[in-house]
Amino acid sequence: MRHAFLPVIAAACLFLTGVVILNTQLWYSSRAESLGGARYAANNINLILNEAARATRVAMSIKGCTLEGQYRLGTEAALQPHLRTIVIVKNGAVWCSSLPGNRILLSQIPPMVEGHLLLASARETSNRLPILIYNTRFADSHILVTISDQHIRGALNAPLKGVHFALQVGDSTIGMSGDVVSGNVHYSGRIRSAEYPFSIVYNQPPLFSLQRLITHGLGILFFITLISGVTAYALNKYLHKEMTPEELLRRAIANGEIVPFYQMVVNGREGTLRGVEVLARWKHPRAGYISPAAFIPVAEKSGLIVPLTRSLMAQVVDNMNAIESKLPEGFHVGINFSASHIASPGFVDECLRFKARFQRKDLNLVLEVTEREPLHVDEDLVQTLNTLHENGFVIALDDFGTGYSGLSYLHDLHIDYIKIDQSFVARVNADPDSTRILDCVLDLARKLSLSIVAEGVETREQLDYLNKNDITFQQGYYFYKPVKFTELIKILLSKPKVKVIVE
Ligand code: C2E
Ligand code: CA
Ligand code: CA
Repeated sequence: MRHAFLPVIAAACLFLTGVVILNTQLWYSSRAESLGGARYAANNINLILNEAARATRVAMSIKGCTLEGQYRLGTEAALQPHLRTIVIVKNGAVWCSSLPGNRILLSQIPPMVEGHLLLASARETSNRLPILIYNTRFADSHILVTISDQHIRGALNAPLKGVHFALQVGDSTIGMSGDVVSGNVHYSGRIRSAEYPFSIVYNQPPLFSLQRLITHGLGILFFITLISGVTAYALNKYLHKEMTPEELLRRAIANGEIVPFYQMVVNGREGTLRGVEVLARWKHPRAGYISPAAFIPVAEKSGLIVPLTRSLMAQVVDNMNAIESKLPEGFHVGINFSASHIASPGFVDECLRFKARFQRKDLNLVLEVTEREPLHVDEDLVQTLNTLHENGFVIALDDFGTGYSGLSYLHDLHIDYIKIDQSFVARVNADPDSTRILDCVLDLARKLSLSIVAEGVETREQLDYLNKNDITFQQGYYFYKPVKFTELIKILLSKPKVKVIVE
């Protein structure tokens, strides 16, 4: 289920990330464009006001409002492309104007203001069109240069789609259409002219705009969608790829899913606990506990048996140290080792480090070596097992009787005891003839002076037979099944005196 959603979630994340990056990129460039447009408009207005400043200087040079003086004002107003009228005001009245008859287009003479500029609304002019006034104090007079709204709007008309620029002087604003507006009008963007007291105000582009994405980023949007789709497809393929048993096992070991189970070895006569055998289980997240028969062969074939056994050894150390005070004296802890692991370089050092980590120094660590697989007996193997034996390890030959050349092993290797395979014990029943093979195996073991552990004890008859034959170390469902660590603690704490079956 999780796998079904993962590709969709990954694709959605990728798509959203792509859209966010693209949108941010477009926002930045659109903001830079708006700013460029505002600078362009401000520059246009500056140029117009430069004309007004020049015309003001001409007006200042006029000594008397004679025909000549009026002519000069008229010519200046006519020659400067953006100016409408030039008016000289003295003592609150028009003294001289560029218009014939010293006329003025304003309904009343505006007061002198701080700075140069003033926006007059349509109501304040005789031709009902708003104007920009460039106003300069000069001795006892002041000079007004008017600029029509048409030129102002032309200057504001930066070729940018969707961005509206306006000219703001004091708290009056004039935009691309309509009259002068007084008071607070909100604009998110503003730049001030360095030369004249006005600002160009405009609306900053929105942080997110679907329209902008489609208009300016359609190609990239398509690309992002494609990449997201391909990623989802590839991820889906990868997640649903069949993993080989080896890959599954490797992942399980890495995830700590291979855990130790413990099966008690008891003294069949007294019912006392003598030790445990560590048996691997795969704690599968969905399938529950999986038997080692299903994965030990894969582990042995692939070489994963070495990391698998190491992981178990580490867990066994932790488990035994956690209950060290509860363990009976001389308690046996048996671990199954595959032949390839024993033959690997550094095995002796690994075992010595393993032993050193146990807090209880009186534990008997048992190396169980199976006879089911052919064991390549050479100098190195003999040396390895001898060194381990000298360092206090107990060597047990597992599944005795099933092997290829049991007798030659016993001759060449140092073996402390044998574990009689459960198939021999399983034959024992009430019928006296049923014990024949086991009689022979036990006879052979005794003749070779080997200690014996019997596996697979399931019935009372089998127990009685083994006790009669002095095989005191016994292991089987009749006593205990392999259990997880928490169950092992319970068994150790209850210390049963009688023989019981624990499921
Ligand atoms: P084994 O070493 O001979 O272990 C004894 C097997 O007999 C265990 O099977 C145990 O559960 C089972 N058993 C014990 N008492 C009885 C009984 O009364 N009746 C019956 N029918 N069975 C009983 P398990 O745990 O399934 O292990 C199977 C084999 O897998 C082991 O045989 C051993 O060869 C291998 N194995 C298990 N853990 C490891 C490991 O950590 N490393 C290696 N190399 N092999 C392991
Ligand atoms: Ca074993
Ligand atoms: Ca066995």
